[in-house]
Amino acid sequence: MVHPDSNTFTWEDVRLEEPRSDEVLVRVVGAGICHTDLATRDGLLHTPLPAVLGHEGSGVVEAVGEEVTDVAPGDKVLLSFSSCGHCSACTHGHPAYCASLLGLNFDGARPDGSTPIRSANGEALGGRFFGQSSFATHCVAHARSVVRVEAADEDELALLAPVGCGVQTGAGAVLNELAPGTGDTVAIFGAGAVGMSGVMGAALTPAENVIAVDIVPSRLELARELGATHVINGREEDTAARLAEITGGRGLTHALESSGVAALLRQATDALAVGGTVAVVGAPPVGTDASFDVNFLLNGRSIKGVTEGDSDVVDFIPELVRLHRAGRLPFDKMVRTYRPEQINEAAADAAEGRVLKPVLRF
Ligand code: NAD
Repeated sequence: MVHPDSNTFTWEDVRLEEPRSDEVLVRVVGAGICHTDLATRDGLLHTPLPAVLGHEGSGVVEAVGEEVTDVAPGDKVLLSFSSCGHCSACTHGHPAYCASLLGLNFDGARPDGSTPIRSANGEALGGRFFGQSSFATHCVAHARSVVRVEAADEDELALLAPVGCGVQTGAGAVLNELAPGTGDTVAIFGAGAVGMSGVMGAALTPAENVIAVDIVPSRLELARELGATHVINGREEDTAARLAEITGGRGLTHALESSGVAALLRQATDALAVGGTVAVVGAPPVGTDASFDVNFLLNGRSIKGVTEGDSDVVDFIPELVRLHRAGRLPFDKMVRTYRPEQINEAAADAAEGRVLKPVLRF
């Protein structure tokens, strides 16, 4: 639970409603911690507090509402963002661009304003964060946030939790949006959990060069292990000069900006080849401006914002899990597990860059 102005997580006993017709009761086994949880905890996003956060859950279905047909009690599932299912974006396979995305994921309530969570004395508490609120032993999730997956056991299922946001955001931006081909060069700016997933995604493509740019040597080392052909330490090297050298002066056909630093978006854009694209997933504070040279863009260069890897979760999440199980998307190398009562330690480790992806193991 997060209370207003507390900047810390607390564990409390709450009451959870039975799932409604379009909801699923899930016993949570793993929950990844992402920067969006921390920004919401700190009151920087619009979710009203007090609320239960958590938006990268994994678990086992305990009960389903009468309209739910895709999952059944006993199924192992991952929890992801929510979408309406009937707007134009949803019906065309792009639920991450759902017309109701912000409300369904950040309002801390169902569309009718109610919440499945109450305090012990009956006060309504924010829930349904990203359709789930999975920093909890159990959650009542929206059916469209719940995807059935294969896992050998609950330890493996816990490790899969970050697929629901961080992994699909980075890997999806590269595989679904950029889709580099033979001979292309992809540079990933920011090798955090999202960028590292972009590196792993790029390593699955025929791209000739996969370049990771960061300022933390251990992250660059891991990026190499996970498929980067080149790494650049932006604090010690001239990034623009190195990118020009690696591409023989041609520039980047594709870039992923996942640091959330506006200056890096400029750097990524300036490094694009003619016709190149930078996918922007890093989310700096609301109101952040970035600049670019307009004339430079005219040669077919583009800058495109991407949410949740433009993932159609029903197909893409099981696909990422299959790749992981085949050893081709080893995102478990980013994960450190914590006991639920260590949530504030895990959050501090994430905020200070000591861990790439903390996962609470329930
Ligand atoms: P993170 O903080 O772990 O990763 C950011 C990385 O950028 C770090 O490794 C950091 O060392 C690096 N970095 C910072 N400044 C740098 C600089 N000047 N030069 C080079 N590297 C630098 O965060 P994360 O969990 O990987 O998330 C990345 C971003 O993606 C965040 O802004 C997050 O809010 C956002 N996000 C967006 C979506 C989406 O749907 N678009 C989804 C999830 C997360």
